[in-house]
Amino acid sequence: MESLNNHELIEEKPSEPRRARPLMMVVSAPSGAGKSTLCNRLVAEFPNVIYSVSCTTRAPRGDEQDTVHYYFMTKKEFKERIKNGEFLEHAKVHGNFYGTLEDTVLYAMDEGNHVLLDIDVQGAAQLRDSLVRLDPRNPIRRGFTDIFISPPSTEELEKRLIGRGTDGERVIKKRLQNAKEEMEHASKYSFQIVNDDLETAYADFKTVILSAMGQS
Ligand code: ADP
Ligand code: 5GP
Repeated sequence: MESLNNHELIEEKPSEPRRARPLMMVVSAPSGAGKSTLCNRLVAEFPNVIYSVSCTTRAPRGDEQDTVHYYFMTKKEFKERIKNGEFLEHAKVHGNFYGTLEDTVLYAMDEGNHVLLDIDVQGAAQLRDSLVRLDPRNPIRRGFTDIFISPPSTEELEKRLIGRGTDGERVIKKRLQNAKEEMEHASKYSFQIVNDDLETAYADFKTVILSAMGQS
């Protein structure tokens, strides 16, 4: 595991006093790797870490609520928001559109929160590419930290997807196919964590985040 974040090195100026910096933590993983398990635990442990609520065109699942889990919207509304330049990033994932509104992230960071973005590899790549165009003082550029969570093996990933019991056989097959492609993006992230033993993975996850917060 690396201990330094490249983006942090670029922007620090020696004459500037070091001040607390809200993080924009981008976390990606193949479906079933344990991203939600790790992120939910982090949010439960740290009250100043909150999820960025994304927009999606997919239908709500189970007890998901609009504005809490996602901003659920029609394709027409989603496209309108793309046209208006409201998204920091957006992508088609598993056949549906997903996107992060710039206002959502900036508002949360402005309130002093660290923001956790559970987004796919395409969205993370868009954000990484867009950083260089932002002013070095922009909170998104200052706080950007990207983490990739991998499963220990494809066999274990399949076991977890089956064990979670939320997806049918066809969906699981598709997710496993997508996982191969997603894993190829892992090296683009500043930090990579293998979620084999959950306690070890969570300890690694916390070490990365506390170090990015400047608290370790
Ligand atoms: P993701 O959000 O990446 O799709 P989840 O967090 O929903 O994945 O985890 C998928 C399944 O694997 C869940 O049933 C979860 O309880 C289980 N799981 C997560 N981490 C581990 C681990 N380290 N060892 C065994 N099972 C795990
Ligand atoms: P789900 O439908 O299971 O909630 O999410 C499916 C996938 O979409 C996950 O990989 C999740 O990380 C990704 N996702 C959720 N929100 C966003 C977003 O705002 N942008 C992008 N690019 N991906 C997202």
